[in-house]
Parts: sequence; structure tokens; C-alpha cells
Amino acid sequence: MIATMQTIDAQWESEATTGHVVSGELDLTHKVILYLDDITVSFDGFKALNNLSLAIDAGELRCIIGPNGAGKTTMMDVITGKTRPDTGTAFFGQTMDLTRMTEPQIAHAGIGRKFQKPTVFEKHTVFENLELAMKADKRVRRALFARLSGEERDRIAEVLKRIRLDRHADRVAGLLSHGQKQWLEIGMLLMQEPRLLLLDEPVAGMTDEETERTAELFVSLAGEHSLVVVEHDMSFVGALGGKVTVLCDGAVLAEGDLATVQADPRVIEVYLGR
Ligand code: ADP
Ligand code: MG
Repeated sequence: MIATMQTIDAQWESEATTGHVVSGELDLTHKVILYLDDITVSFDGFKALNNLSLAIDAGELRCIIGPNGAGKTTMMDVITGKTRPDTGTAFFGQTMDLTRMTEPQIAHAGIGRKFQKPTVFEKHTVFENLELAMKADKRVRRALFARLSGEERDRIAEVLKRIRLDRHADRVAGLLSHGQKQWLEIGMLLMQEPRLLLLDEPVAGMTDEETERTAELFVSLAGEHSLVVVEHDMSFVGALGGKVTVLCDGAVLAEGDLATVQADPRVIEVYLGR
């Protein structure tokens, strides 16, 4: 039994590493960066995702809302390769089949994910955190404490500015506010130059001001990056201004601008009915 599983794993690995599915550049010829179609994920017979279909355009800033248990986190698990769907297709651009790629392959292809809790290196400075994030990607080429090139320093400086921590570069990350830690972690993701960013409840626990700054940051990232943001805070979702998808019972219930979906009786029902 174990031998069989290993054989299957080995076959899968070799297909995943040699097939066309993981090679080459991200193909955005049809302007769609993420395409999910008819995805189902079951846990002991319970369908966490139930024929979920969703398409995200290149450069889009999309919000996903929905009651607890709707399947939002499970959807991100499918996109990042953490969970394999039972059925359905998931494509990154035109050619990369996410259901046939490993988690590291998906990350390397340009999908970055931020989890709810910030996971920065508390004892290192803000600058060092960004440096470590950059080098995690280039570890084969470079030793961890090798000197940074001018280009790499510029890149770190650019990200520091973007996440509003340029005046805190030499501070130990453990001393930052909760909101600043969240921004630092977003900065660490940006060091990897992702094309698609997945952000699960990024403003939970932030002050109102931090929440507003985060909305500005995300709006500024859209275009160059595509963003999928799961969030409960409706004023934040409104500030992002993008299209909103409402998930419920593992499928799309409604989609449109925030005002339209908030006025939808089916959406009102699922929020008030639970
Ligand atoms: P959301 O993020 O929208 O709150 P989740 O994707 O976390 O929802 O969960 C969707 C449903 O799937 C929930 O009912 C949850 O209990 C269930 N679920 C999620 N992950 C697992 C798992 N690993 N095993 C069993 N059930 C799970
Ligand atoms: Mg969740």
C-alpha cells in the first residue's frame, strides 16, 4: 500500500515537473489570470466547495465576502495547491494547471498568499525581514548573508516605501504595531514579485487608520498585480472599490459592485439568516 502511494507520488511529481503545465511564462493572452471552473472539495462527504466557478482578470482587485464556513479559505487552499479539488479545473493564466502543481511550484510561478496571522521574523529588523524574503527565493544562487547588490537594495527601499515602513527599516520587527507587522508581511510577499496576491482577512485587528492605509496600499498594487482579498470589513471592501464576489455554501451566490450585492435579497438573507 505504502509502496503504491510512493509510486503514484513519484509519477505525479515527474509529470508535474516535466509537463508543459509548469513550464514557461504566465500567459495572459485572454486577460484572465485566475480561472476556477466547477471546483468541488469534500471533507468526509461535506462539500466545502460545491461547483465553484470564478475568473479574475489580470490586474484586478477582487474582494471575496461571505458568511463563516462559506469556503473562502478552502478556495485559497485550492489555488495555492494546499488542497486538491475532487473535481474541476484551476488555471493560472492560460497554461498553468494549478491542480497538477505542487505548493512550491505554484508559489514560484507567481502566486503569493498572506495568512491571517502575521508571521514575520520578530527578532530581525524590518530591513532584514525583506532581505530574507528576497533571498528565500534565490537561496540556490546566493549564501544567506552575502552582500546585497545595489539593485537589491533599491528593490528593498522601494518595497519599504510602498508598505510605509521606510522610516522603520532598522526597527526590530517584534516592536512594530499589529498593522505594521501585517504590512511587513505583505512587503515580504512583494519581494518575491508575485503576479497574484491572495490575502485572507488582512485588516482583522487593525485600527481604522491602518485599515485605510491598507486599502490605499492594495489599490496602488492593483494593475501591476492582481489581488484576491477575503474580508468581512465592509467599509474596507467599499474603499477597495473593486468587484465583489459573495460566496455561500461553497459556490458563488452573487457578484458585482458592493452596493449591488449588498442590495441583493439572497445576500441579505445569508447574512441575516445565520
Ligand atoms: P470560510 O473561510 O469561508 O469561513 P472555510 O473554507 O474555512 O470557510 O470552510 C468551509 C467549510 O469547510 C466549513 O464548514 C469548514 O468547517 C469545512 N472545512 C474546512 N477545512 C476543513 C478540513 N480540513 N476538514 C474538514 N472540514 C473542513
Ligand atoms: Mg476563512
